[in-house]
Formats: sequence, C-alpha cells, structure tokens
Amino acid sequence: FKAPEIKNEPMRSYAPGSAERKAIEAAVAQMEQELPFEVPCIINGEVVKTGKFAKQPMPHDHARHLCTYHEADETTVARAIDGALAAKATWENMPWPDRAAIFLKAADLVSGKYKYKLMAATILGQGKNVWQAEIDAAAELTDFFRFGVKYVEELYAQQPPQNSPGSWNRVEYRALEGFVLAVSPFNFTAIGGNLPGTPALVGNVVVWKPSPAATYSNYLVYQLLTEAGVPPGVIQFVPGPPPEVVAQAINHPSFAALHFTGSTFVFKKLWKDIASNIDKYKGYPRIVGETGGKNFHVIHKSAEVRNAVLQSIRGAFEYQGQKCSALSRLYVSSTIWEGGFKDQFLEEIAKIKVGPPQDWSNFMGPVIGRPAYDKITGYIKKAIDAGGEILIGGAGDDSKGYFVQPTVILTKDPQSVTMVDEIFGPVVTVYVFQDADFEKTLELVDSTTDYALTGAIFAQDRLALISATNRLRNAAGNVYYNEKCTGAVVGQQPFGGARASGTNDKAGSISIFYRFVSARSIKENF
Ligand code: GLU
Repeated sequence: FKAPEIKNEPMRSYAPGSAERKAIEAAVAQMEQELPFEVPCIINGEVVKTGKFAKQPMPHDHARHLCTYHEADETTVARAIDGALAAKATWENMPWPDRAAIFLKAADLVSGKYKYKLMAATILGQGKNVWQAEIDAAAELTDFFRFGVKYVEELYAQQPPQNSPGSWNRVEYRALEGFVLAVSPFNFTAIGGNLPGTPALVGNVVVWKPSPAATYSNYLVYQLLTEAGVPPGVIQFVPGPPPEVVAQAINHPSFAALHFTGSTFVFKKLWKDIASNIDKYKGYPRIVGETGGKNFHVIHKSAEVRNAVLQSIRGAFEYQGQKCSALSRLYVSSTIWEGGFKDQFLEEIAKIKVGPPQDWSNFMGPVIGRPAYDKITGYIKKAIDAGGEILIGGAGDDSKGYFVQPTVILTKDPQSVTMVDEIFGPVVTVYVFQDADFEKTLELVDSTTDYALTGAIFAQDRLALISATNRLRNAAGNVYYNEKCTGAVVGQQPFGGARASGTNDKAGSISIFYRFVSARSIKENF
C-alpha cells in the first residue's frame, strides 16, 4: 500500500466574474439567509442537546449570531471520555490503509463538497476576507489531512537500522494509552481540524473542544470527518465553557495527551494543572502546544524597500493581525526608513479599507470579539501613554462590529510595552535603528520578549542574512528571508516556535506525529 501522490491545494484568484467568486458569493448569501444555526454536542455519533445555550456572534455585526450551541456539561464530558475509550480498540486496530482512506476522503470533502460552506462560515463567524478564508478553511485544512496521511505512512516505515544474525527487530508505533484532549483556537478553521485530526490519524481517540468563537465552522469540520467515515466516538465534539470541559478532561486518569493552540497564559496554566494531577494518570501525558508570538521583521540597510514595505503590511494586517505568526515588532534601519520605507508604508496603509469581511473591497475585517477589541484598543492607549507616536490608525469603532484601524506606533524605546507584549491585533510598533547598530539591534530582537515564533530578515547583503540567522538562533521557530513572517505552508515550512511560543513540535511535518504515538520495539530470534 502506498498513499497517492499529494500536492498542496492550489490557491485561486477570485477574479471578478470567475466561477469561484460566484460560488463563494452564493454560499455566503445562503448562509446569511439560513443563520442562526443550532450546534449540538456530538457524543458517540449521537446529537446531544444539553439545553445550556451559548452564542457565537458575528464579529462584523455583533447583534446577530451565526449559531447557538449547546455547551457540554459534566455528564456530557464524562460520556464523551467513556465513549472515546470504548471506541479506541476498533479505531487503533483498523488497518492503516482504511484510516488513511478516511482522511483522504475528508481532504476531498474539504476541497470539494464542503469548500464554500466552510469558507462562508469562516468569513461570517471568524471575520476573514475571502482570500484569508481560502488559505485557511480550504487550502490548509485539505493539506493537513493529505500530508498527514503521507507523514503517518513515513512514520510507520521507520524501523531500526540494524538486525543481528538470526534475529529480526521491528518497531510498531501504537496510539497512546488513553485519550487525547484537543483544544483549538478561533483564528484558523484548519487548526480546528488539525488538532483532533493529527492524533486521530495515528489511531488515537480524541475529545475535541473547539473555540467558542469558531464553533460553527468547526462543527462543519466535525460533520465532514463523520461523512468521510471517522467512526462514532473516535472524535467527540464538545463545545463548551473552556475551563470546565478542559479541567474535567485533564482530571481523568486516562488523559494521555493535550494538543493545544491558544494563549501562552492558558497553556502554562494547563501544564501546571497536568503536573499537579500527575499521580492520577497511568502514564506521563504528552503536552503539545502552539501558543503566543511577538514576531519581528528586521529591515537591514541593504533591503529592497518596496518588497519590505508590502511584506510588512501583509504580515502585520492580514486577518487583522490575529495570526499567531503576525508581525508586531518592526525594526527598520534609519537609511531605509528615511529612504522611502516610512512614506510608502504609511501611504499604502492609508489605502486599506476596514469593514465587513464579505465585502470584496475590504482588506481588513473585524477583530474577533469584545475582549479582543478592548485589549487591542487598550494597548494603543498604553503605547500613547508610554510616549509612543501614532503614525497612522489608532481608532476603533465597535458600534456595529469590532473594527480597529491598521495602526502603526513609532517608539524610541525598544522595550516599550507594545514591543514586548502580545497584542493579537492590527498594531505594529516600529523602532528605527542606526545602520551601524545592526548587530546591537539583533541583540534587542532576541532579548526583548519571551516569545520565539516567527521572524523575517530583509537584506540583499548575504552576510547580513547570515549574521541575523546566527544571532537569532533561538528567537524564532520559523524564519523568512525577504518575505513576511506569516503564511507557513503545510509540507513546505513546518510550523511552530519555542520559548514561550510553544513546544515547537512543528505542525505540517512528520515531527508532530511522533508525539502522539508510543513506540514498541519487538525482537525475535529465529
Ligand atoms: N501557520 C500560520 C502562519 O504561518 C499561523 C498559525 C497560527 O496563527 O497559529 O501564518
């Protein structure tokens, strides 16, 4: 058995009049007509309505909501765990080609039957414009499932290099003993599918708690996984109040792993809670997390100005700066800053339109919700109080949706609050350095924050690239030369960071699959 050849899902242009443009417009219009939807918990393949209702408001129009969902309660979570454990034997013993076929079919459903519906749910529910929705809910999710099959196949093929005469050594990669808890974020529908999908591919059963702010798109992902053939109980869908669901799962003796994407604060808290439960568990749980970022661009004096300007705008403001990988600290050499960067940067940002994401002319949509809006605008105020100068933007409007203008803050203090703290919004802080201080600036980039997710270096001088790459050895898990620090592609740039940004297990690569298996060596003598 060999899985089919795979390629990354292609990206379309959505040119006016194109078939894909008509299709997504129709899908959004239909969803607008049919909403709000009702989303239940799904336990052992059965619909469970707890009657504990919560809403997923639409961030561009917060008076309306995309769905009402049933929050999982204690009984439901307990049933989810028991049911998952009961489904485990069949799933992990299913022949690998059959598990692979299920995920290959799921990928086809993402890129076929469900594509526009998933994108529409991501546009209306999570505030992405059409291109951002496609990168995420269509392309990346398809890639996660297809490349996942390829990586698991490679993993299973890994064997000890040596056999001694008369004996044969084998290794089998079994699912973990117990269940995996997947806690997924709002900002990528694809990560919603990948957090339960990765452990399930290698035979684990998973209790999946999606982000409240992405409930509907994630429910569609759940549905298509079921349609593709994931058996009842293998992935349990438990939307709900995060602390309760998560606490109950990690208190269970069969808790075997956490697969998490979200904030550093919550991840550290869960790590401590897991540590304090350690005597309850059968084994040492695997803890896999991708958390915050405070990502940088460094623009060397040899950089090509126009490219650095455009890439910095995209890195900072696409999806309103709500990617873990988004640019938020921009270090620019004074020659470049004065030599056109500043003027072009501000001129281009002034053209950015902010508004409802289903309107094609808006480059930026809303931020995800009230707490995000308050946090982002609060940081803009803090920056001003600390002596930062707002070069453009700074304003927000939350009357109908949670809109924040793309904002650039100029600071003379490289340790000022918006150079250090993660904001998770469309705010970038600029620090201009003297050309001669390039090496000193690299020290600053490395030491200013606790995070180490992504970064980019813009230089045409190869020696500057080398110097920055060496000096910033531990400052980012994903580094880009002359390109923005967002947009890692599955199978091309394994994604993840270290320090406070996560366990760096690299989503979109073979590495992460090792975390969700427990290997057994078998020796046999003839
Ligand atoms: N993989 C995405 C990127 O490279 C970011 C994922 C995230 O926000 O967690 O932009």
